[in-house]
Amino acid sequence: MEKTKKFLLQESELPTKWYNIVADMPNKPQPMLHPGTKQPLKPEDLYPIFAEELANQELNQTDTWIEIPEEVREKYKIYRPTPLVRAYNLEKALDTPAHIYFKNESVSPVGSHKLNSALAQAYYCKKQGITNITTETGAGQWGTALALAAKIFGLELAVYMVKISYEQKPYRRSLMQTWGAQVIASPSMSTKAGRKTITENPGYQGSLGTAISEAIELAMSTPNCRYTLGSVLNHVSLHQTVIGLEAEKQMEMTGEYPDIVIGCFGGGSNFSGISFPFMRHNIKEGKKTRFISAEPASCPKLTRGVFQYDFGDEAGYTPLIPMYTLGHNFAPAHIHAGGLRYHGAGSIVSQMMKDKMMEAVDIKQLDSFKAGVLFAQTEGIIPAPESAHAIAAAINEALKAKEEGVSKTILFNLSGHGLVDMSAYDQYLAGDLINYALSDEDISKNTDKLEKIV
Ligand SMILES: *Cc1c(COP(=O)(O)O)cnc(C)c1O
Repeated sequence: MEKTKKFLLQESELPTKWYNIVADMPNKPQPMLHPGTKQPLKPEDLYPIFAEELANQELNQTDTWIEIPEEVREKYKIYRPTPLVRAYNLEKALDTPAHIYFKNESVSPVGSHKLNSALAQAYYCKKQGITNITTETGAGQWGTALALAAKIFGLELAVYMVKISYEQKPYRRSLMQTWGAQVIASPSMSTKAGRKTITENPGYQGSLGTAISEAIELAMSTPNCRYTLGSVLNHVSLHQTVIGLEAEKQMEMTGEYPDIVIGCFGGGSNFSGISFPFMRHNIKEGKKTRFISAEPASCPKLTRGVFQYDFGDEAGYTPLIPMYTLGHNFAPAHIHAGGLRYHGAGSIVSQMMKDKMMEAVDIKQLDSFKAGVLFAQTEGIIPAPESAHAIAAAINEALKAKEEGVSKTILFNLSGHGLVDMSAYDQYLAGDLINYALSDEDISKNTDKLEKIV
């Protein structure tokens, strides 16, 4: 019998609702706190920063299903539904009895899953009459996604891009500019937070934390302007559940159900997106699927961080979030998976980690590239360095299945392609990349400084 490689849905099968797992969680995440008063956050507290609908979604703990607006579904059709693919050639190369499937989010025009939330966020801003939006971007993927979404919905966008990426990754900057966004290297002289950083630390190459502070400051000081964030927050994870909801239908087409679901982990949005719809069956029906997040060994918030209230940014503008964190002043090594260099995890995932509803593994940089190259040579797609962490974790599980002589069904999310990251592959192929060791002291010197609230 001929084997099916790609499992495809019709446009008419696009999900009509996002899945809000908080409504189903046995233990809800602890409340986020107002950074000034330290009181539980109310949606109104977020209105100056975020579009109101997004602020409401952020704190919604009661509605299990949230309607995807018609206008957003219409734009999703540019690239959704995305394929679910059986990785036969990778299975063969590993000589494993495991069945490996991946959800291919790299087919979006920006090359990653981030457009799923960018379109939703731009839409809600537009609907509220907002004209300008700001954001930060590290490796550039969120900025590129938002640049396209802003153009589609007719908004002006200013992106603060971490300076080292701005200089080393000119193509993501060109993508954003092609889609019409203004791109500013961060730290910049255009905000108080940026000026403070530059004067205290001349020559600083920038960090996601500083860029977030700059973008929020601009949003709060500019009329009719709001800030947007591409990961970490609950509403971002909510929008990304469109990935897992499609995958759920596609797994049905394969006649299998995943034993293991894997996503790489920066702030948690693509991991949440692929996992939550399947985790629903663990919560509701007692299914025993394992959920594994794959983070870089050099930025190990879930495997080695502390559970503590912490800020999402360096300057302390964001709400205090109950999260696994390495401390908001943590400066991760300059690994090539830029999208995974974030100090904390979102509040939903952090609570799940605490409640052992999911697991985390850390992947060394060289192992991630080795996995990425094997995937490219077997399945043809050059993965984003971030996604290569999920591939490495999937390979580890497939090899364990082989050792144990059992067949497992493994599903991972291919969060993006690596075609704009070829300088990283160049360095790997030339033997110029290294693994970064992180001592316990490197971690505790930041986490010890966090104010203890609980
Ligand atoms: C941003 C990004 C990530 C990490 O972000 P999450 O919010 O953890 O998903 C992973 N993969 C790609 C391709 C990205 O662009």
